Amino acid sequence: MIYDYCVIGGGIVGLATARSILRRYPGASLILLEKEPAIGLHQTGRNSGVIHSGVYYQPGSLKAALCARGLVATKQYCIEHGIPFEQRGKLIVATSEEELGRLDALAERAKANGISAQLIDAAQMREREPNVAGIAALHIPSTSIVDYGHVLRSLSAEVAKLGGTVRLSSEVRHVSELPDEVWLRLADADEIRSRHLVACAGLFADRLAVASGLTIQHQIVPFRGEFFELPARLRSIVTAMVYPVPDPALPFLGIHVTPTMRGTVMLGPNAVLAFAREGYRKTDVSLRDIATYAAFPGFWRTIVAHLGSGVSEMMNSLSRRRYLAACQRYVPSLQVEDLTPARAGVRAQAVSSDGTLVHDFLFQQTPRMLHVLNAPSPAATAALPIAEMIADRLEPRRDRGAA
Ligand SMILES: Cc1cc2nc3c(=O)[nH]c(=O)nc-3n(C[C@H](O)[C@H](O)[C@H](O)COP(=O)(O)OP(=O)(O)OC[C@H]3O[C@@H](n4cnc5c(N)ncnc54)[C@H](O)[C@@H]3O)c2cc1C
Repeated sequence: MIYDYCVIGGGIVGLATARSILRRYPGASLILLEKEPAIGLHQTGRNSGVIHSGVYYQPGSLKAALCARGLVATKQYCIEHGIPFEQRGKLIVATSEEELGRLDALAERAKANGISAQLIDAAQMREREPNVAGIAALHIPSTSIVDYGHVLRSLSAEVAKLGGTVRLSSEVRHVSELPDEVWLRLADADEIRSRHLVACAGLFADRLAVASGLTIQHQIVPFRGEFFELPARLRSIVTAMVYPVPDPALPFLGIHVTPTMRGTVMLGPNAVLAFAREGYRKTDVSLRDIATYAAFPGFWRTIVAHLGSGVSEMMNSLSRRRYLAACQRYVPSLQVEDLTPARAGVRAQAVSSDGTLVHDFLFQQTPRMLHVLNAPSPAATAALPIAEMIADRLEPRRDRGAA
């Protein structure tokens, strides 16, 4: 048989895309292929669970627009599907005079992005969060938390209800684009034919793009985000999410304190170069993955450009005391014995051949394929509008039924 649509990847971007396509084009046949035996085992199932407001992103960028829409859409989706979320709000805390300028710049950016945010002084901050120290903060009331695993299960159920097929343990190895259809070869040698393909392969987005015959100017470099969980007695140490002022050169937000929907409080994530794309433990090494990025000139350029922060993140990863010191700057009462290692995640971060970290979402489209090439944070927040945008870009019915 030939499907109308094939989606690769059972993370939030792939499942939301499958849902949007099926809602937009009722009656279309769709198969979603996921290489793992379950959905959401990678970025989506290992993130911080924050529904971001979109303060940080360059006005006019896809991230800024899709995050702002995603905040509203995700909450609405949760309400409609009975998925709990909590609007806890967020504080970005400046702890030095030097950070005040950057905090002001973030307040300006929030304004440019149409996000309600308020600069508050140390006393106002302490009133909100007595355990947080700093000299000023930006308060963003709309930031919320959710369990993205819950969202994912709901999306998957909807895809099935709308007539789509989610096929697990189905790794796509090779894709051939023909004038009228796309052929996919799976690891088990099975073949799938589809009129249209959308690839949402996260940490493998670049490898799959190349296996589909695309020429790309970037590569995915994996950055592990390590988390610690605080003990039950510290579950009310913060009510909101508490973030440091980020380095504007980096797409990472800095180690933050986040309450979760499980009732726990997490510290993290840091951002350490991983030695495997799915390298969740420090000891995980894939020679193939290392060889791929080591042979890419952009990787070395970005390493040189961000040497200071890269070394610092690596040291934070190796020393729990250093990691703690980063958090104590704004939550001073935390102690090293409060930190229990928790499940890590790995971010898929696209790096261009000139060494720049690709900040914005990135897509590449051919007549029959659309590849999502860079969908880092806040892509969990933005997944629903990303999916709508992808559905807009697909040409649906022109040739359905022709083959
Ligand atoms: C530590 C961490 C914290 C984060 N915190 C937040 C946050 O708080 N809020 C937020 O909005 N975002 C956050 N993000 C980012 C967010 O989680 C990701 O942007 C989002 O989950 C990306 O979704 P995805 O579907 O593109 O990728 P994934 O969830 O990684 O899914 C891709 C899927 O494709 C499958 N796949 C890959 N190759 C193939 C193949 N060849 N054949 C078949 N299947 C394949 C994989 O197995 C995987 O299941 C965080 C990310 C990390 C790592």
